[in-house]
Amino acid sequence: MAATTEAASAATEVATTDPAAEREDGAPGARAPRRAALSPSRINDFKQCPLLFRFRSIDRLPEPPSSAATRGTLVHSVLERLFDLPARERTVAAAQGLLGPEWENLREREPSVDELFADGAELTTWLRSAAALLETYFTVEDPRRLEPAERELMCEVELESGVLLRGIVDRLDVARDGALRVVDYKTGRSPSEQFAASALFQMRFYALVIWRLRGIVPRRLQLVYLGDGQVLTYDPDEASLLATERTIEAIWSAIRHATTTASFPPKQSRLCGWCAHQTLCPAFGGTAPPFPQDGAARLLQAGAPSAG
Ligand code: SF4
Repeated sequence: MAATTEAASAATEVATTDPAAEREDGAPGARAPRRAALSPSRINDFKQCPLLFRFRSIDRLPEPPSSAATRGTLVHSVLERLFDLPARERTVAAAQGLLGPEWENLREREPSVDELFADGAELTTWLRSAAALLETYFTVEDPRRLEPAERELMCEVELESGVLLRGIVDRLDVARDGALRVVDYKTGRSPSEQFAASALFQMRFYALVIWRLRGIVPRRLQLVYLGDGQVLTYDPDEASLLATERTIEAIWSAIRHATTTASFPPKQSRLCGWCAHQTLCPAFGGTAPPFPQDGAARLLQAGAPSAG
């Protein structure tokens, strides 16, 4: 794996925030309200900073779009659409040709992304950076040889304890022998060892959900880093997924306790530099808004077993 500086890794962690996160947890912008659930992104928030978790999952404060996250959304859309084409037509040029139409679709869905660019030149430079990521993708995989079973697969499962998990898997491949491979694209650079564990936790989360839904432990989890063309893989087994389940249950217990006691302290780190809520953060001289009891009640539904 390519070496990265700590700061670059930290930036990667922020910049590669899963574009699917809002749809996973039904945050503002989601079409229909639904039962709250734990997602890898939100668990990561809680571990990173409990107050950040509160702002995102309980207060549900809006955040301005970032060019890195928006590029991630755009590249994910292109890679999803690419597999609509007949196999032989899945070329670099075809993928890059999808950038324009997918950008227009994104603008239609989220008009605020226009504010990211001062002028057409900035937008052109940004689109070129997205095109470069797609070019890197082709150095890692040959999409002409792949027929994904699922793309942008929304999966949701309730654990025996009643905790609801939800995630969106970028791609699920099924081999002839039925083996499953879970693939996730990251538009940042591959992480340092310090952050690799966090990235793999996300993949084990998806593997657990798929195992519980389909009764099959995925054979391989694969993270494709388009920032540097590196691939991180992990072959899970039942024991590792059971351990992941126990970890998730423990994190949920901590979240539930924090929610019932309205206790979400700030936890400063170098990632604060990318936090959209510094002005409300006591660690930076701000004052958090009153604790929203309705938001807390909604979140607690994530651990309330559904009837029947
Ligand atoms: S600024 Fe830092 S400490 Fe404050 S809420 Fe954001 S991530 Fe947490």
